[in-house]
Amino acid sequence: MNEFKKDLIRLKKITKGRIHSFKLLGGEPLLHPQISDFFYLIRKLYPNCWIILVTNGILLNSMKDEFWQSMHDNSVVLRHSLYPVDIDIDKYFEKAKKYAIKMIYSTPEELKKTLVESFVKFHIDLDGKVNPLQSYRACTGKVWSSALEDGRLYQCSFTAYVKYFNKKFGTSLIPSKDDYIDIYKAKNLRELLDFYEKPIPFCRYCGGIYGCEKWESSEKHDITEWTNNIKSV
Ligand code: SF4
Repeated sequence: MNEFKKDLIRLKKITKGRIHSFKLLGGEPLLHPQISDFFYLIRKLYPNCWIILVTNGILLNSMKDEFWQSMHDNSVVLRHSLYPVDIDIDKYFEKAKKYAIKMIYSTPEELKKTLVESFVKFHIDLDGKVNPLQSYRACTGKVWSSALEDGRLYQCSFTAYVKYFNKKFGTSLIPSKDDYIDIYKAKNLRELLDFYEKPIPFCRYCGGIYGCEKWESSEKHDITEWTNNIKSV
């Protein structure tokens, strides 16, 4: 929490507070025990920005009152990404209504129309032989999944969290200092924007879309779900 606070203060300084929105997303943000505190912290430092909580919704019905109170107090917008899992939607909508929570989908019926029944599969090229510019131009990830961690701003969550992929599968895809921007070295917003406007070396691992499959829980939990050149591992 302290690191995050420090980073938010630094970001505010170099951007002069010109940040439109913060999205708290996963993994799954509701798993974080201090999720309610993050809302207060962001709102205190950025009184006018949008704060959007993006969740798979699985834990919404088990969240305590202090969570809903914090959502309300900090005008956090709830965005439920609805997958085919068993969730009592009506139940948490009642709670959200009681606390006057802002919702991207304002009724259960509206939300149900957004059900994600298939998902697009991305291929990670373990050899890193893809043309970075080509990957960058085709990339949609950088638009919505920019990530901030320990003073480093990443264009995409893939680069920020590939360490977990490495840990799970024994790979060694390591971002270099050119794959993120250090917010303690960047002097202003222009420098951050310049960083976002060009491919990073890590884009060479992004092999693009290679299929669309029915959404379901993984049975295999193995690397073939992420890449099609497993011989390199
Ligand atoms: S590494 Fe590059 S191409 Fe891949 S998701 Fe990140 S920004 Fe997009």
